[in-house]
Amino acid sequence: MPKVGFVSLGCPKALVDSERILTQLRAEGYAISPDYAGADLIVVNTCGFIDDAIEESLDAIGEALAENGRVIVTGCLGAKGDIVKQTHPQVLAVTGPHALEEVMQSVHAHLPKPHDPYTDLVPPAGIKLTPRHYAYLKIAEGCNHRCTFCIIPSMRGDLVSRDVGEVLQEAENLVKSGVKELLVISQDTSAYGVDVKYRPGFWQGRPVKTRMVELAQALGGLGVWVRLHYVYPYPHVDEIIPLMAQGKILPYLDVPFQHASPRILKLMKRPANAENNLARIQGWREACPDITLRSTFIVGFPGETEPEFNELLDFLRAAQLDRVGCFAYSPVDGASANALPNAVPGEIRQERLARFMEVQAKISADKLQGKVGKTLSVLVDSIEGDTVVARSSADAPEIDGVVHIDGAENLKPGDFCQVRVTRVSEHDLWAKILSR
Ligand code: SF4
Repeated sequence: MPKVGFVSLGCPKALVDSERILTQLRAEGYAISPDYAGADLIVVNTCGFIDDAIEESLDAIGEALAENGRVIVTGCLGAKGDIVKQTHPQVLAVTGPHALEEVMQSVHAHLPKPHDPYTDLVPPAGIKLTPRHYAYLKIAEGCNHRCTFCIIPSMRGDLVSRDVGEVLQEAENLVKSGVKELLVISQDTSAYGVDVKYRPGFWQGRPVKTRMVELAQALGGLGVWVRLHYVYPYPHVDEIIPLMAQGKILPYLDVPFQHASPRILKLMKRPANAENNLARIQGWREACPDITLRSTFIVGFPGETEPEFNELLDFLRAAQLDRVGCFAYSPVDGASANALPNAVPGEIRQERLARFMEVQAKISADKLQGKVGKTLSVLVDSIEGDTVVARSSADAPEIDGVVHIDGAENLKPGDFCQVRVTRVSEHDLWAKILSR
């Protein structure tokens, strides 16, 4: 049984942190060593409140290093910049206070968990409800915005970003278990890390910022498709477009614009509502000509006038988005938008929805038609009789179209291949296989 020694310093809050770490260590099958000599690793939970406490903590780390040599540091001193690493560069890892998951990650990295024949029946990637070759990767829960049509923050609370090291470890496990496409999701993917001030986490022994761009960069190194969903057009979104152009992540951006009229966007309290989205879209296309843009919209929002609706249609025609979903406004119980004046009558909402879909259907059809003759890299989803059903970078599972491949043999779900598009239907493509 691997043995961990523990030194706990500081106030009652630090003591509770120590108790949680010790509880987790025991729950995972580690033994706790009462002395340095019998331990495979020492965790020192430090205090950094006053100078004396800092000195005591640094001394305790020094003693553990001298007596044992393998030391992980956690607690308040870990949050005080580089002081631990500067004084004791040999420590294996340093985390701040209340960092149970990070401490456990460091322990796992330097002293692997004992084998448990009961829990080890579960694959490292956990139990998945998606097909084996793609998986959703949830990076945060909750949302800091208060869009007036939405009740998610009241149900799920404010944004809580997952530890970036933990997210990347999960992604790595998924890839090892055969996943070929990672679909990054949250309520507001571009806000990832705002709640923790983009603090760095650790993955594969190196620091990675808790931030969408750095996360996308790291995921892009795993050698599988990476698709980002629910990205609001904050300025830093421009930084991920080069990753798409370089082929590190899929050139696919799911940006829920919801409307184009500045007044309606303000009434909706949409994040990034002051951005010039047409200019942004143009910039993204210049930087990455192959980019697929998906968005969703709401028509008939309370107060939406006919000219404002037409502004939305003009935006659609100018933006030439590839994939679009649209809903007629529906008053969700508890949404503050329900109290806004000048509700749009139900039949006008439906009529606007139909007009919206008519405009977009033509745009989407022209876009699909433009793909005939093009060579695409596709990922096989399923085999249905003689037809192989696959998806290209432009197609997210369940929500976008598919690519039907005629006459392809010996392909199975999770295979990549190259195809040439021969014809299109309203939503899907048909193609011939070129190579595997
Ligand atoms: S719609 Fe607005 S409030 Fe609701 S989850 Fe998305 S960003 Fe947050």
